[in-house]
Amino acid sequence: MHGNDIIARFAFRNHDVRGELVRLQESYRALIANHDYPLGVQKLLGELMAVTSLLTATLKFEGHINVQIQGDGPLNYATVNGNHDQALRGVARLVDTPKDESFLGLVGEGAYLVITLSPEHGEEYQGVVGIEGDSLASTIEAYFLQSEQLPTRVWLFADPGSGQAAGFFLQVLPASDQETEGFDHLSTLAETLTAEEMYQLSTEEVLHRLYHEEDVELYPEQAIRFFCGCSRERTATALRSVPMDELREIIAEEGELRLTCDYCLTDYVYTAFDVDALNAHEAPSQPQ
Ligand SMILES: [Zn+2]
Repeated sequence: MHGNDIIARFAFRNHDVRGELVRLQESYRALIANHDYPLGVQKLLGELMAVTSLLTATLKFEGHINVQIQGDGPLNYATVNGNHDQALRGVARLVDTPKDESFLGLVGEGAYLVITLSPEHGEEYQGVVGIEGDSLASTIEAYFLQSEQLPTRVWLFADPGSGQAAGFFLQVLPASDQETEGFDHLSTLAETLTAEEMYQLSTEEVLHRLYHEEDVELYPEQAIRFFCGCSRERTATALRSVPMDELREIIAEEGELRLTCDYCLTDYVYTAFDVDALNAHEAPSQPQ
């Protein structure tokens, strides 16, 4: 059996090269559902999800990672957040209707990729790289070369129509003495991967198809899920920092106060009664 939302890591016993394979379906569908994103943005979010999962699998600590494109075109930003448990969420925002939904058409030539690693214990690390080439994959490769001096190849696939996305990653191990020849050979074989194979074959089948002449060690797969993490309690905490008069004013005008989560579109509705309760239970009353 093979899951449709999984990430698998593997290593070559005869080369100083490691790899990862990610496949997304339900988690990808949940992330783009009901947002009415243009198809190009849905595709980009699928690729961003795959990248975030690939990067998250390399974390050596508990914590989370944020991969964000800060756009310079119709796309203001697109971001996916993941943690060591492979719980992912993401959102995109447009400032204009895109005429050209290619990667560069959406993000613009002057866009940046910002990767933030946030360990639960320890300091945050942020890496920034300008868009390189005409794809997210080539930009991620540039990021690894700049930030870690590690030759890396990334292949990304996303098809919003069928609600499937995937990614494949190869990287020379740190501190290995120039594995260039083996790495180039393994990369050339991976060039032949098709989207259909990535979506339909199991991890073992993909690795056998590419590397049956190699000695590959495959580690156990990890499940990926869409998980937002928003809650009514979090919205309540945010509301407690807003003056009560302002909250009451909104309710007087609108009849209710409605907060919608940017990521999962869940509505949190507050009535006048709820707003009073918020104040009575937790916050000290506002000085007049
Ligand atoms: Zn949410």
